[in-house]
Amino acid sequence: MTKEQAQALAEEIGFSHNGIFDVRILRFRQEVRDMCRADKCNKYNRQWTCPPACGTLEEIREKAEEYDWGLLVQTTAYMEDQFDAETMMEAMEDQKDHFIDFLEKVREIEPEIDMLPMSSGGCSVSCPRCTYPNAPCRFPEKAYPSMEAYGLLVSDTCKKAGVEYYYGKDTITFSSCCLFHDAT
Ligand code: SF4
Repeated sequence: MTKEQAQALAEEIGFSHNGIFDVRILRFRQEVRDMCRADKCNKYNRQWTCPPACGTLEEIREKAEEYDWGLLVQTTAYMEDQFDAETMMEAMEDQKDHFIDFLEKVREIEPEIDMLPMSSGGCSVSCPRCTYPNAPCRFPEKAYPSMEAYGLLVSDTCKKAGVEYYYGKDTITFSSCCLFHDAT
C-alpha cells in the first residue's frame, strides 16, 4: 500500500480529512496513558483494547515503532450547537463505520498486509459487554486499541499529519489512524 493509495481510499470512503505522518516523529507519552488511568471514559480496565490489558506503554510503543508511516483519517460534523448530542453520536458512528470499511478495503487490495490500526476512543466493535477479563476477546482480528492507549495525543498527531484537530465553533471531529510499512 502506498501513501497515495491509502489517501485515495480514504477520500473514496468519505472521510472529511486525511493526512500522512512519519512514525519516527510520533511521541508516545506516559501522561496520555495516565489520563487513561484517570478513567474519564469509563473504559480503563474494562476492555481488552484499553490499558492495562492492551499492554504497557513500552510494549505497544515498540510495536508501533516497527512501522514507517501512518494515515490519519477524520470525520467532522457541524452541530446545531454544543449540546447537539445526536450529530455528535452520528459523527462518531460514521467514523467507526468508515474506518472499518477502510481497513476491509485495504485488506481486499493487499490480503497479506501488516498494518496497525488505532481507533478513536475504545474498542470499535460494539459488543454488548466486553468479555474482559474473564474470557478471550470475541473479535481479536477486529478489535484494536485507541490512539490514546498508545500514548498518542490526538491533537499532536493531527499536527504531525498536517490536518486540524479543531475545525471551529460547533464542529466535532473524530480521528483514527493506521500505521503501515513502506511499500516494497
Ligand atoms: S471486540 Fe468485544 S470482547 Fe473484544 S475488546 Fe472489543 S468489546 Fe471486548
